[in-house]
Amino acid sequence: MPQENRLDLFHIYSENSAAKKCRNISVINGAKNQLSILNNIGRNLGNFFLPPLCTGCSSAIDTHENLCADCWREIDFICAPYCDVLGTPLPFNPGGKTVSAAALATKPIYDRARVVARYTGVMRRLVHGLKYSDRQDGWRLYGRLLSKAAADLLDEADLLIPVPLNRRRLWSRRFNQAALLADALSHESGIKSDPMILSRNRLTVSQVGLTISQRRKNVSGAFTIKKKALKSMDGANILLVDDVITTGATVEACAETLKQAGAARVDIVALARVTDNELAII
Ligand SMILES: [Zn+2]
Repeated sequence: MPQENRLDLFHIYSENSAAKKCRNISVINGAKNQLSILNNIGRNLGNFFLPPLCTGCSSAIDTHENLCADCWREIDFICAPYCDVLGTPLPFNPGGKTVSAAALATKPIYDRARVVARYTGVMRRLVHGLKYSDRQDGWRLYGRLLSKAAADLLDEADLLIPVPLNRRRLWSRRFNQAALLADALSHESGIKSDPMILSRNRLTVSQVGLTISQRRKNVSGAFTIKKKALKSMDGANILLVDDVITTGATVEACAETLKQAGAARVDIVALARVTDNELAII
């Protein structure tokens, strides 16, 4: 075949091929647009029957699993500068990573803690709603908040483990709020969460009104690791998830158990922390 004809055929083939590709792309785009329209219709219908409400105060908002502007404003977020170990806020920024005097005086068993906000106002209401009123509608919101607070810890974490509830308490409450938070964080970060590794052997008395040493005694030896999971703990970086940290006695007891089982690092992330000596009604 003469060279010119070959070139013509190639030209026609290229044009046809390009046209076919264009047609395919426009078909795909058309399908995407239709899907997007159907999604919008579905979302609008869903919002009509189940309008999005603020997780904090139940006022009407634009999107599900979110807070209204007033509730966002009222949350006392713990932002930098904070102690690199305890995650507690610092009064000024000395530059770089800083360890507070409290952490230097009494080094915790865990390595680093990060907390979303102080246990006051809206955050206190959110935690109470989650814990005692079965308010699980903020699941995605909690995942996003925890993910942002623990951004530097997630980079090194191999596994998420929630602070477990005793079986009796789990039976009466029907779910473990820390496991729900760990699941939300897992969804957000892609890191696996396993609520079955750590278990609580006994029902500890309420921590309210106890001194720090009484709280440590109260939870000492309260946790164990499932025998089957012991191998997976060897050298692992664990991110322990809880709803509220008061004195830190519970998370320290968990960290001690995990480290005794071979974990290389145990970090903590929680929604809230009692940052002063006020009596926490949890
Ligand atoms: Zn609100």
